[in-house]
Amino acid sequence: MRNVRDTARDVQNGDASALSVLEESLAQIRRRNEELNVFLHVDEDGARAAANAIDGRIARGENVGALAGVPVALKDNLCQTNIPTTCSSKILEGWRPPYNATVVDRLLAAGAIPVGKTNLDEFAMGSSTENSAFGPTRNPLDTSRVPGGSSGGSAAAVAADMTPLALGSDTGGSIRQPAALCGLIGVKPSYGLVSRYGLIAFASSLDQIGPLTKTVTDAAMALEVIAGHDPLDSTSLPEPSPSLVAHVEDGVAGKRIGVVRELIDGADADVVASVERAVEALKEAGATIIELSVPEFRLGLSAYYLIAPAEASSNLARFDGVRYGLRVDGDDVTSMMEATRTAGFGEEVKRRIMLGTYALSAGYYDAYYGQALKVRTLTIDAFRRAYHQADLLLGATTPSVAFEFGSKTADPMAMYLSDVFTIPSNLSGEPAISVPFGTGEAGLPIGVQLLGPGRSEGQLFAGARVLEIADGRP
Ligand code: GLN
Repeated sequence: MRNVRDTARDVQNGDASALSVLEESLAQIRRRNEELNVFLHVDEDGARAAANAIDGRIARGENVGALAGVPVALKDNLCQTNIPTTCSSKILEGWRPPYNATVVDRLLAAGAIPVGKTNLDEFAMGSSTENSAFGPTRNPLDTSRVPGGSSGGSAAAVAADMTPLALGSDTGGSIRQPAALCGLIGVKPSYGLVSRYGLIAFASSLDQIGPLTKTVTDAAMALEVIAGHDPLDSTSLPEPSPSLVAHVEDGVAGKRIGVVRELIDGADADVVASVERAVEALKEAGATIIELSVPEFRLGLSAYYLIAPAEASSNLARFDGVRYGLRVDGDDVTSMMEATRTAGFGEEVKRRIMLGTYALSAGYYDAYYGQALKVRTLTIDAFRRAYHQADLLLGATTPSVAFEFGSKTADPMAMYLSDVFTIPSNLSGEPAISVPFGTGEAGLPIGVQLLGPGRSEGQLFAGARVLEIADGRP
């Protein structure tokens, strides 16, 4: 499967039809989906109709947009009109949204072809896609290992050449962590840059939608399409989409890049070695490297696992057997709701709802939720200080390469620690990108992470491009 840029160019020029590109994508899905469990739903007919419409418009000489004919996989917490949307949960069984998420409308307007919905950890809670009610997704690079999570299906779709582009959501690392484990680019945009209208909420003060791709340019093209103000999301920044592709080749000459000890300490030796080689590559490209310590980042995980469950316990109250999906009957309304939620939610979702409800309850609110918000403020201040010294920050994306199935499922804390390096940017609302850089144990990919202040996506893509070239992908 060709990348996003070449596909769009060939389709727009008439060198390839959108339908032929789509058929290639569908054939690869048929070849590998049973083994990998990437797609929960494939909309072959809808995708063919969309591809034919694009080909018709091109035949009439129209410009169909930046993503002409590009097949795209959607994480199954994004709404698409009349397409089953499950969040990998039994509680949404049979539910079909009556509307498109804004990102879906924008993809369609740019000529992209949504082909189907990808597996995730239930309601995006997890780091391995093992928490799906529909079985885990396998990592296409080593099927005995997880693809990461929660956007594991979206990452696997791109890594397995099923689609050149997928969208995921990132609340604590769910785009960047699977990108790192599957050898892809993954972007968590600035909070407010991409509309969340039609994203089924996990933790609303943290959630952002972003792209997973094989190249930096592809990610910039996709983000440019989905970003920009949307009146349907009250947290949307009141600005048009920034120009990003134009900055991909800007380089890092003269930039100060802060290597953050707390975003490296505790990582496996192969991951540390990759970050060190990334530092050398950036230095060679003309960046000034500064060693930084940001001790506040060590508190991020604890704060996140109070704030995210607190918001989730509130957001998930809507799944009550009345409005959406599953209903298990009971003698009265309360027992119906109880039976529905007992049957519909998986173990991890129930754990989060209980944690969050506890953290918000009278008598504990100040001690848990209130404290976590203070840590969040400290984290934001710490980032601000770091960005006085450095233009961008660098660290690892994950502590290890892709792990084996079952190796962390018995101990929730072990699983939560997968996100220790990605969570700070969610707490601050600032952007970060994971870029594959070198390989480690068993030849598996390693991701390094570049972080920047709010709306610095252009600079992040430029830094990521320097690493992409240095890693041998010109
Ligand atoms: N793995 C983290 C969690 O379980 C992050 C999830 C996410 O970003 N959606 O909450």
